[in-house]
Amino acid sequence: MDFSHASNPHTRRPENVPGPFFVDRTCINCDTCRWMAPATFGRVGSQSAVLAQPQDRAGRVAALRALLSCPTHSIHADNRTSEELREAQESLPAPVPGLGPTVPPDGAWVEADTGALGAVYYTGWAAVESVAGAAYLLVRPKGGNILIDSPRYNPVLARRIEALGGVRYMFLTHRDDVGGHEAWARHFGAVRILHELEANRQQGTDKVEVKLSGSGPWVIRADGSIASLARSTAVAIDGSGKATAPAGAVTKRDAAVRSLAAVAAAAEAAAIAAADAAVELEEQAVEALLQVTAEVTAANGGRTGASAEEEEAEVVKAAEVVADEVAEAITEAGAEVLAEAVLNAVAEAEVVEAEVAEAAEEPESDVTFIFTPGHTEGHVCLYYAPLKVLFTGDHLSSAAGQVEGAPQDELFVFRDFNWFSFELQLQSVAELLQYDWLHVCPAHGRRAHLLDAAARLAAVSSLLQKHGAAEPAAAAGPVTSVACIASAGLR
Ligand code: SF4
Repeated sequence: MDFSHASNPHTRRPENVPGPFFVDRTCINCDTCRWMAPATFGRVGSQSAVLAQPQDRAGRVAALRALLSCPTHSIHADNRTSEELREAQESLPAPVPGLGPTVPPDGAWVEADTGALGAVYYTGWAAVESVAGAAYLLVRPKGGNILIDSPRYNPVLARRIEALGGVRYMFLTHRDDVGGHEAWARHFGAVRILHELEANRQQGTDKVEVKLSGSGPWVIRADGSIASLARSTAVAIDGSGKATAPAGAVTKRDAAVRSLAAVAAAAEAAAIAAADAAVELEEQAVEALLQVTAEVTAANGGRTGASAEEEEAEVVKAAEVVADEVAEAITEAGAEVLAEAVLNAVAEAEVVEAEVAEAAEEPESDVTFIFTPGHTEGHVCLYYAPLKVLFTGDHLSSAAGQVEGAPQDELFVFRDFNWFSFELQLQSVAELLQYDWLHVCPAHGRRAHLLDAAARLAAVSSLLQKHGAAEPAAAAGPVTSVACIASAGLR
């Protein structure tokens, strides 16, 4: 009997087909090799195995890319050549299909023009600290590249990333996928961004440069700073089912809403002040009338007859005089109060108008950080508008690879790996409908690509319904996200 595996977990699993490539017993079933090189790797039981040995150089390089990206070094190749290994190393980070330049046959993709919209690359070199969470490099035409979540540090990968423009920001979706963040931040002098609820001393994330606070959303401004839009109400989606405008438009709309709200508040304050002043003067008038009446009555000294009628006429006359004076006072005082309130309102409107103008001049942010609590308390996703791509961390992924036979455009949430509130996670998924995303790039789980806004809405509705959070979508006419959220019983 062979007992070698009992003392050495790096022995070959018997489920591997014979040949140079094999998976050992340390596999943690992270799925990385299976989606990176599906022609070679598959799942047998609760671990991966080589189901077919690669037959040509391209197949071996693909399998070696998976070998480099395996977080636990569980993949082995007995006959790898240094040229093939170098080719595998040089081909990471790899463009994400549909979100980056096409890889030319000569392998010179890294210098390829990423175009006006930018590009997304999968970094490979998964970190065991992140349980193989996928990290991405977002190459932006302007404003600096963003490394989303963190691979394990490797100098070859660092050199390849340098060739793509380096890293200005490191965005960490949440505490689970921070991998080798310190080494990468040090190497590139990058600004790390993480929600304050996810930061902690054990992982060294208490030292990140930018801690997001509150519920956002947040954007990167033209000067490179991170700003919170902090809007108070959810954005509705129009009747056609289309997602909302991108983040920049939200900024301008919020400013305009603020302007209107400020003027309305000032007008209301003026009306209340004027009403208060009128009530006060009216009370003074009544008091004055009572006083005059009392004085005249006292002057009469109880006389009767014609003389008494004359005196009464005098009282009435005196009262009329007082009433006229009071009325005049009310008019003057009211006008004064109103004039002051109007001046205040105008001043406030001018301030807000200046803010609106400033917001209009500010280029719309291509990046929005979206608060998506649920998987953890402070989980955040990143939306990159030019490519309509959502980086979802552990919040949302494709069901492919998780559910037997599921298509890549079916969405999935990890119910068994929820550390805070599954209900809140579903609500956060519904909230994502406010943005016009068509591509989902998760840390865990596989990527999803949706055809259009209707497909996105259908996929989210189906997911919510599956977890008992939603009624079936309305049969007639387009369904808005607001209706979807409402029917989900999430608001
Ligand atoms: S990448 Fe490594 S750990 Fe992940 S499934 Fe493959 S062999 Fe297992």
